[in-house]
Amino acid sequence: MPLKRILVTGGAGFLGSHLCDRLVSSGDEVICLDNFFTGSKDNVAHLLSNPHFEIVRHDLVNPILLEADQIYNFACPASPVHYQYNPVKTVKTNVLGTINMLGLAKRVRARILQASTSEVYGDPNEHPQKESYWGHVNPIGIRSCYDEGKRVAETLMMDYHRQNGVDIRIVRIFNTYGPRMAVNDGRVVSNFIVQALRNQPITIYGDGKQTRSFCYVSDLIEGVWRLMSTEGLTGPVNIGNPNEFTIRELADTVVSLTGSRSEIVHLPLPQDDPVQRRPDISLAKEKLGWQPQVPLKEGLVRTIEYFEKRLSETN
Ligand code: NAD
Ligand code: UDP
Repeated sequence: MPLKRILVTGGAGFLGSHLCDRLVSSGDEVICLDNFFTGSKDNVAHLLSNPHFEIVRHDLVNPILLEADQIYNFACPASPVHYQYNPVKTVKTNVLGTINMLGLAKRVRARILQASTSEVYGDPNEHPQKESYWGHVNPIGIRSCYDEGKRVAETLMMDYHRQNGVDIRIVRIFNTYGPRMAVNDGRVVSNFIVQALRNQPITIYGDGKQTRSFCYVSDLIEGVWRLMSTEGLTGPVNIGNPNEFTIRELADTVVSLTGSRSEIVHLPLPQDDPVQRRPDISLAKEKLGWQPQVPLKEGLVRTIEYFEKRLSETN
């Protein structure tokens, strides 16, 4: 079978870099495109000497001419701290960036997969969330640049599919964690682990009763790869781990696994922070034969090992 050339936007980020690993090890040629806003060359340094791997510094809001058989569109800051840093830019990345990638897919007849998010469900009134749920999203809040940006990206995907016959896939990713999250990423798992390892206070926003369902990165990448490789299924498909925990439970687990002396402190809950979130993964089970394999404690242990190494290098 001839080599596939695969474009991964956001390929130097947390998820994108694991995807690049997976694709290169399957024998494909990978072009990793990134503007290094939240990503880092360190995440793909081990791939740089591989002749099947290329890296392009480019901002997705500007068009680019490339040739590819498949596109994974992962470029977009995912942590609230980073996507709220320049919200207008976040909207541009999701709207102009997705239009640019869909234009490319249309021109070269590539299959394109969009990294969407559980955030399209907003602060959900339906629990757990099925793909058929339309969501409960504030259009004018501080999370809207991301939530609404991703909703427009989904709309664009469907309209290019209906209007131009572009071969699309949409994955709705639920909270995913693991090695290569940045030390300053700002999302809850990396924050708690870094705080625990430094014996600094663990910052719970609000009372800690809000819930999330945490998926380990290897499970996520397998689900995304299967969706890209499955014929006749555009999605959206939820990929996430249906085991739900409160943020307080997560904090306690991280403290116990690290043996940290950190105390737990409570900070104000950010505006529009979803109260609960858990994927219904029936569709992924049925159509992709996929379900997560890595339980939270096991994934946390692997992630803690990663951050221990990272922090010891920078100390
Ligand atoms: P990340 O911040 O580590 O990675 C995002 C990458 O995109 C970074 O390398 C960043 O530099 C790059 N990027 C951002 N804006 C860009 C632009 N305009 N042009 C080119 N590159 C740009 O985040 P992540 O967790 O790896 O998330 C990757 C994708 O998955 C995002 O689209 C995110 O919305 C989606 N997602 C992630 C999660 C999760 O829990 N990790 C959940 C839902 C959706
Ligand atoms: N959170 C927290 N402390 C932190 C970071 C996040 O309590 O240091 C909470 C946050 O308020 C939210 C949950 O953890 O309720 C998940 O936050 P994250 O930013 O990881 O993801 P998202 O809110 O986008 O699901």
